[in-house]
Amino acid sequence: MRVTLDAAALDAADPLVAHRDRFVGAASPLVYLDGNSLGRPLRATEDRIARFVAEEWGGRLIRGWDERWFELPLTLGDRLAAATLGAAPGQTAIGDSTTVLLYKLVRAAVAARPGRREVVIDVDNFPTDRYVVEGVAKECGLTIRWLDVEADRGVTPEALAPALNDDTALVVVSHVAYKSGFMADVAELTRLTHEAGAWILVDLCHSSGAVPVELDAWQVDLAVGCTYKYLNGGPGSPAFGYVAERHLDADAFHQPVQGWMGAADPFAMGPAYTPAPGIRRLISGTPPVLGMLALEDMVGLLEEVGIEAVRAKSVALTSYTLELVDRDLPEVEVVSPRDAAERGGHVTLQHPRMREVTAALWERDVLPDFRNPDGLRIGLSPLSTSFTEVAQGIAAIGETLRN
Ligand SMILES: *Cc1c(COP(=O)(O)O)cnc(C)c1O
Repeated sequence: MRVTLDAAALDAADPLVAHRDRFVGAASPLVYLDGNSLGRPLRATEDRIARFVAEEWGGRLIRGWDERWFELPLTLGDRLAAATLGAAPGQTAIGDSTTVLLYKLVRAAVAARPGRREVVIDVDNFPTDRYVVEGVAKECGLTIRWLDVEADRGVTPEALAPALNDDTALVVVSHVAYKSGFMADVAELTRLTHEAGAWILVDLCHSSGAVPVELDAWQVDLAVGCTYKYLNGGPGSPAFGYVAERHLDADAFHQPVQGWMGAADPFAMGPAYTPAPGIRRLISGTPPVLGMLALEDMVGLLEEVGIEAVRAKSVALTSYTLELVDRDLPEVEVVSPRDAAERGGHVTLQHPRMREVTAALWERDVLPDFRNPDGLRIGLSPLSTSFTEVAQGIAAIGETLRN
């Protein structure tokens, strides 16, 4: 039981509170509760982008590729992996959108399990994940085995186990469910998947930067995630992809968009494609260098603070949100896990009027988001959100609901 619901006291006692000032706009009266859709920019990023234009791009010109940019998808991927993914170097590359990387990884996984005809995914997974799986299934003549999930949960080992068999090629699962915020037991889901001889692809869009991930220890095969949510990379910043070293070493991974930047020697301009050794083969075309600059700043901040401290703040914020909701919003239903160990960085509240409530809140500079059907999502970006913002946001939801 928390001793206080006093937001100012909680902010004063927050060991990470000083980091809020490092984000653009965090000191303004606006209440931002959607850091899980688009994180705030870091102030350092304003300067970094200006310096990049003046010095790196404007000054180094084409030499920039040799000096830094060519390797940036892999060097920054390794830093991101160490800071947030529990992954050793050489397995993470940055580039493309989440959707495009999902396609490349799903396609590579089913090609690596020839003869197996089924892909398992849940009906509540993020639309793009489902659509990509449907597209690949159609392209490759596979069957989709759909898992049902309860509104306030996600994929559990109990739900997955009966769906697996010796025809399963791949399981696609979100670590933290975008709707409910349920955090899946990926280690156990992976164990079950491997027992059936299949690969697992984990979507980390709603986890990386907010909750610790242990891709190597969990023995995950493939993972993908975006960088504009809790990683504050900015609108349209590129995604990251992870391929376990054992698949790269065994040459078991072949992605379908074979481009020159993922070739063994891009500047040989050779007659045929030979994939680069290691994770570089996940890259297709010229890396989005401009899109990685804000992410570089956020990775630096995460290296400094540590993901465990970020998770502690995240749990404190979501727990505080639920305590206020229980006390002040009796008319809404919480469709997120009550147990913090099963919860990611956001909380979803359900009420038949949430669509219009969200629109009214946006008018008064209180910004949560809305997800069908009837769900108001409160996304609590740990380093840029205060307890005071949460208290103001919950109060505003109550006033709007009763209006
Ligand atoms: C945000 C999100 C995406 C977004 O895909 P993009 O290609 O980056 O637009 C995909 N999957 C999940 C689970 C997400 O939360």
